[in-house]
Amino acid sequence: MTPVFHNGPRTPGDKTVALTFDADMTADQGPRAAMGERFDNPRLIATLRALRVPATVFMTGRWAEEYPVQARSIGRDPLFEVANHSYSHYAYTEDCYGLPTVDEPLMRADVERAYAAFRAVGVPDARPYFRFPGGCYDRRALRTLAGTGVTAVQWDVVGGDAFATDADAVARQVLDGVRPGSVVVLHCTTSAAPATERAIRTIVPELRHRGFRFVKVSELISAAPR
Ligand SMILES: [Zn+2]
Repeated sequence: MTPVFHNGPRTPGDKTVALTFDADMTADQGPRAAMGERFDNPRLIATLRALRVPATVFMTGRWAEEYPVQARSIGRDPLFEVANHSYSHYAYTEDCYGLPTVDEPLMRADVERAYAAFRAVGVPDARPYFRFPGGCYDRRALRTLAGTGVTAVQWDVVGGDAFATDADAVARQVLDGVRPGSVVVLHCTTSAAPATERAIRTIVPELRHRGFRFVKVSELISAAPR
C-alpha cells in the first residue's frame, strides 16, 4: 500500500514548515498554452530564490514538457526539490473537481511517464513523492501505485490560492493554518493561481518572524517517526 504523508513532527522547539507548489498542467491544455496562457510562474520561483526559501515543487510531466528550461533550472537548484504530480493531471478517483480520470490500468504508467518527462528535460533526481491531482485518492489508487515506490504527499494547510486574486486573503489563510511540521499546498501556475507570488512575500517574513524554518518535504519525511 502506498504510504500517505500529511505533515511532519509538531515539535514546538524546532518549528519547520514545508511550502509546496503544484505545477499543474493538464494533458489537454497544450492548445491553451500555445495561445499564450501561462501555466508557469517565473516570478514566484524568482521570489523564492530571492528570499532563500527551500520548497518542493510537485510538477506534472506535461508542465515539464511545456517549460523544459524552467523545469531543469528548478530541478538543478539545491534550494528546490522536484516531486511528481502525475503526467496528465487527471484524477485518480471519480468525482475529483471535474478533472478527467485516469483508468486504473494506466495509473502507474501516468506516474512513471512524469518521471520520464523530468529525466528527458534534465531534472536529475526527482523525489519519490507523489501528489494526487486534486488530492483525490482512495484505497484502489493507493494499492495500484504501491509498486512505484512513491509516498503520497497530502498537506495539512490549504493555501487557497487556486483562482484567488486577493493575495492578502491567501496569506491570511496560510498564516492562520500553519503549525510546526505543516505542509502547505500552493500552486506554481499563473493561469490558475495569479496571487501566489504576492502572498509569498507576506507569508515568508511573517513565518520567519514567528520562528519558523522553511524546509523541503524530504526533511519532514525523514524527521517523521516510522
Ligand atoms: Zn494539481
